[in-house]
Amino acid sequence: MDYLPIFVNIKQQHCLIIGGGAVAARKADLFIKSGAIVTVIAPELKTEMKHHLEHGYVSWHPAEFSIEVMATVPKPKYVISATDDQVVNQAVYQYCKTYEIPVNVADQTEYCDFILPAIVDRSPVTIAVSTGGRSPILARLMKARLEALIPAGFGSLADLLGRYRNKVKQVLSSGDERKAFWENLLQSAFVDKATQGRSEDAESILKTHLEQAEKSGQAMPAGEVYLIGAGPGDPDLMTFKGLRLLQQADVILYDRLVAPEIVEMARREAERIYVGKKDKYHAMPQGDISQLMVNLAKQGKRVARLKGGDPYIFGRGAEEAELLVKNDIPFEVVPGITAAAGCSAYAGFPLTHREFSQSVSLVTGHQQEGTNEVDYGRLAHSGDTMVFYMGVKNAPKIQEGLISHGLSENTPAAIIEKGTTADQRVVITTLGELSEAIQTSHIKPPALLVVGEVIQVRERLVK
Ligand code: SAH
Repeated sequence: MDYLPIFVNIKQQHCLIIGGGAVAARKADLFIKSGAIVTVIAPELKTEMKHHLEHGYVSWHPAEFSIEVMATVPKPKYVISATDDQVVNQAVYQYCKTYEIPVNVADQTEYCDFILPAIVDRSPVTIAVSTGGRSPILARLMKARLEALIPAGFGSLADLLGRYRNKVKQVLSSGDERKAFWENLLQSAFVDKATQGRSEDAESILKTHLEQAEKSGQAMPAGEVYLIGAGPGDPDLMTFKGLRLLQQADVILYDRLVAPEIVEMARREAERIYVGKKDKYHAMPQGDISQLMVNLAKQGKRVARLKGGDPYIFGRGAEEAELLVKNDIPFEVVPGITAAAGCSAYAGFPLTHREFSQSVSLVTGHQQEGTNEVDYGRLAHSGDTMVFYMGVKNAPKIQEGLISHGLSENTPAAIIEKGTTADQRVVITTLGELSEAIQTSHIKPPALLVVGEVIQVRERLVK
């Protein structure tokens, strides 16, 4: 290694910045966040540094760097020189060498006793990335990747873990068992609850794990379920959280609308179970899927249930969740981009627009026996952008329902087949010609029907 990565406590220690520009302000920011007493020497301050001064984060000596000025400031533990004047930077470096003060000269690795890494700050968790001064941009790109990977609330997670460290030591005397305990816990929904600030829920999971360990004297995996919205088709539309939970699951249950690329993203050794169509005509009955999830979780498995779009929008996610609640199985629901949002964006029009539509209705085109009929009368007069899911087969009924209640045949309509995928097809038509367009274009499910004036906006957005 070129440098020893250490984390230094500089709370209440004097640190010095030479320079008042944007770079100096960024470096000062790190000192400030670490609790140092920061002094700035610079003839003038630019906006960012002024901001630090106004907030009382730094004190300012309005002067050029010189040995005389140095005599008037408290002796610093660390010095950073970030001026664009090489002569000044050089003088600062010489000064620090003479007095044996560690120094960093911005952008000049050869004049650095220490370098400042790119930082992912999830205090108390801190990740520092360094390229040994070779490419700060590369370090920054790596930081950006890590930022995306590590949930924002990781700090509160670490705090919570810290609080239980001793307790777990008391319950499990063997180091190996403790390791297994923490590994189980840190690959469970506990993490998401804790990082989202739902600390009571998180603590309750932790306590369940702890009770089990107390009873059996060993760490036991506790099963749980993730209902994950996999988005409408394009695998990139999955959320970070969905991906994270998918990658810690032991078993994956997925159905027809889930992109194969997403199923691939699970761990290699995870068991994958297709619960879409059992044979050519029959989907696995909903009750069987829910029961399968319960059974797997009871075996201590972490189950990812992948659903197309969003689990709680025509996804029957709540029915599955209900059985989990009945069986006391912890679960997480991860929202996904629903077909309406994904398909409209990829087809080139919005769902609301100040000029055309102030509201949206998501409507099922396929109803179960005995449920309430869709109220076409209300829809026809609502001014809503209407998005029909599962509507291909019933398009004539939808069309007739809306027109007979007074919605104009000329209302724009769009049909989006396999939206957001490489095979997406968009047909723009009118309400009056909706069913015919479906016929002539040989539209096959999955397809979404959209009716509303807002579709006109597409002309402005798609060349
Ligand atoms: N939970 C899903 C919807 C499931 S219902 C969601 O939030 O999107 C299934 C219906 O969704 C399909 O019949 C179709 O109307 C619509 N749908 C899902 N994915 C689609 C896609 N990629 N393109 C067009 N329609 C889609």
